[in-house]
Amino acid sequence: SGPMLAESDAQAGALGYKADASKVDKTKFPKYAAGQNCTSCALYQGKASDAAGGCPLFAGKQVAGKGWCSAWAKKA
Ligand code: SF4
Repeated sequence: SGPMLAESDAQAGALGYKADASKVDKTKFPKYAAGQNCTSCALYQGKASDAAGGCPLFAGKQVAGKGWCSAWAKKA
């Protein structure tokens, strides 16, 4: 629950968060690989089928399932 995280949020900007992973700045974040997004991230608290869900890095906000940030870590 909670409002959607805005890309203009200071911490979102610091982590290069984009609500649409395909818009990630690949020059700034060369570790980004196509196909990575919040639903495939170990930190994502929603279900893979959810459009949005919580992320412990952004308490009180929801991140987009199709989003991405530079703290992305592969779900085990
Ligand atoms: Fe999405 Fe993972 Fe970044 Fe949280 S840590 S915003 S779930 S990519």
